[in-house]
Amino acid sequence: IKNIGVLTSGGDAPGMNAAIRAVVRASLYHELKVTGILRGYDGLINADFIPMDGKSVANIIQRGGTVLKTARCDAFRTKEGRAKAYDNLKKSEIDALVVIGGDGTFTGANVFAQEYDFPIVGLPGTIDNDLMGTDLTIGYDTAINTVVNAVDRIRDTAESHDRLFIVEVMGRDSGLIALRSGIGVGAEAIMIPEAKTAVSDLIKRIENGRKDKASKIIVVAEGDEAGGAYNVGKALEKKFPNYDIRISVLGHIQRGGKPTCMDRVLASRLGVAAVEGLLEGKAGVMAGQVNKEIIFTPFAGAIKHINAEQITPAWLKLAEILSM
Ligand code: ATP
Repeated sequence: IKNIGVLTSGGDAPGMNAAIRAVVRASLYHELKVTGILRGYDGLINADFIPMDGKSVANIIQRGGTVLKTARCDAFRTKEGRAKAYDNLKKSEIDALVVIGGDGTFTGANVFAQEYDFPIVGLPGTIDNDLMGTDLTIGYDTAINTVVNAVDRIRDTAESHDRLFIVEVMGRDSGLIALRSGIGVGAEAIMIPEAKTAVSDLIKRIENGRKDKASKIIVVAEGDEAGGAYNVGKALEKKFPNYDIRISVLGHIQRGGKPTCMDRVLASRLGVAAVEGLLEGKAGVMAGQVNKEIIFTPFAGAIKHINAEQITPAWLKLAEILSM
């Protein structure tokens, strides 16, 4: 391997820049060329390549987003699109790839790697923490801390006005962000897809809950059974006409911002591991950290649509005990 291409793809996540930096610095350390590919698979198909050196990743470890930009790219789902991508890699003499993204990114990488026998190592870059083969994905720790900081502020105003706030957080398929941040902010209730909590159960919990509480915070994952914060709000307004109910959808602020130190260190460690893995002949795998060890998991094993960090009944019980 002489020239490693690096790209970020799918949804952006804080810590992607730290990962890019680590891939570039590790490549240079091992005396390899390294090429930045802009806008994920889109840049691969359109040969949007930029040579990278030590300077091109200076002062980015602390920045959210991705300096290489990211995109969703439908053309990469087609044989013709991937053929163009391969042609461009050949022409530019890029002989290995590091792809930073989530399950869609790895699904695409897996198809491409098998079609062209091309060495690719993936890095888990997604706020969702929805991959196997790593305890944490790059961006997740920052995202839950962003949610906690935002909800702490909402708590201040809720407490001052005796309000009930329904806060919607990201998580279409997974309630992990809602569960972790909900425990972190001392939420009165947490609604996540995995628990399939009916609104009637939520109403019962509120009715049976302590009456001396000034404020109430209900954290709802966007993919929750009830269909998000507005639906929960409508049902509660009907049942509790005397409550001062407000809704806050946190939205994209959860994706942005400075990565936490945890995310920076994870991204840095995994970025170096990806390059060294490629040099050792690893291919078609995602680099992850499990029990503090670096492990490489075949793409197909990483994208099983279940999280390494499982939501177990014990976690749901814990949330319930703490919300009295
Ligand atoms: P996040 O989890 O943060 O949304 P992601 O990596 O899952 O990130 P996606 O948009 O699902 O984001 O996937 C990124 C890109 O991967 C797609 O835009 C597409 O180019 C490519 N991709 C996804 N699935 C396939 C597939 N089956 N075949 C080829 N390419 C794919």
